[in-house]
Amino acid sequence: MNYGEKAPALWDAIKNEEKRQEDTIELIASENIVSDAVREAQGSVLTNKYAEGYPGKRYYGGCQYIDQVEQLAIDYAKKLFNAEYVNVQPHSGSQANMTVYNALLKPGDTILGMGMDAGGHLTHGSKVNFSGKIFNSVSYDLNPETEELDFDKIHQIALENKPKLIIAGASAYSRIIDWQKFRDIADEVGAYLMVDMAHIAGLVAVGAHPSPLPVADVVTTTTHKTLRGPRGGMILSNNKELSKKIDSALFPGTQGGPLEHVIAAKAQAFYEDLQPEFAQYINQVIKNSKAMAEEFKNSKKIRVISGGTDNHLMIIDITNTGVTGKDAQNLLDSVNITTNKESIPGDKRSPFITSGLRIGTPAITSRGFKESDAKEVAKIIIEVLDNPEDTEVLAQAKERIKDLVQKYPIK
Ligand code: PLP
Repeated sequence: MNYGEKAPALWDAIKNEEKRQEDTIELIASENIVSDAVREAQGSVLTNKYAEGYPGKRYYGGCQYIDQVEQLAIDYAKKLFNAEYVNVQPHSGSQANMTVYNALLKPGDTILGMGMDAGGHLTHGSKVNFSGKIFNSVSYDLNPETEELDFDKIHQIALENKPKLIIAGASAYSRIIDWQKFRDIADEVGAYLMVDMAHIAGLVAVGAHPSPLPVADVVTTTTHKTLRGPRGGMILSNNKELSKKIDSALFPGTQGGPLEHVIAAKAQAFYEDLQPEFAQYINQVIKNSKAMAEEFKNSKKIRVISGGTDNHLMIIDITNTGVTGKDAQNLLDSVNITTNKESIPGDKRSPFITSGLRIGTPAITSRGFKESDAKEVAKIIIEVLDNPEDTEVLAQAKERIKDLVQKYPIK
């Protein structure tokens, strides 16, 4: 066999995935479509290189160009978020969070984060995750009436449990988050404040959501969601005193060699994010999201959690359609719409079934969808969920999706 001969089964699977992406409407709020340049950087020769350490302080030789790459990623990210300190090495969002906990906490310390059924992430203290196993985790929910954050309740829980770290930020929350209110609570109980802005980082970068950097001790993010970069994580802070602790908690504390090919792709994405077109893109993401929410609100059986959205996503309550979240996800898959099931506040069904769906617009907006297209997608979803067994409706839905994906091919 030749060095580099392609494994046929593997390349068939990759080709099929490419076609799946081209033919489907991607509404998973945490996904996006990166540029060719981001993919090229990630597929570059940088994957061959070990570079343990940081620019200028490596444990291996031959790092002169790698240092330039990593420094560019850091400099672009600093500019994008107006941050004094950035670490671009976390392999993922989860590892960025793990690094911060390793830097600021000891095993057994109390952390306070958003519960998963309210929209928080696994790494915010879920009992099945390292964050809920190593630390004593306590969680906050949403106000059952408003379905928004309830700061009186968060304040009360913080006073009762005296956490060492409060985690703000979410995986499924459609409203603007008031970081200062979290800061006030953290100050009162003597806790650090970490903001996980993974979902909304692209919005923060262009000022479409207030930045957590002026008030949080540390900010973490992924780079592959609204930032439209490669899969990966990042840590930012304006508290210079924490930077040494975080750097060493990441390497050697949590990870070995950084993925410099991914860091190059992060640099390329941040460069793109600094251009004026990126702000236009994010504004369109939000317009599309609001347009879909309006359409759902006008339907008879679908309810939008908290009554709407301020960002790139919404959670819809589909209880009254009689279809579960799990079945809705499968049904929509069958007409080439990709979504994910999602628990609604106080959901009576298990997280494997759920009564809701999470819908996001970053990927369709990267394809070029405008509000009228987003509304058309919402209308199709409403019709499918209203008529789950009507093969005629399902066939028509598939045709309408075909028209949309052909109108906006992935560039
Ligand atoms: N934080 C939040 C808020 C997320 O939504 C996610 C992923 O969905 C993560 C962290 C984890 O990112 P990763 O999947 O890269 O570990």
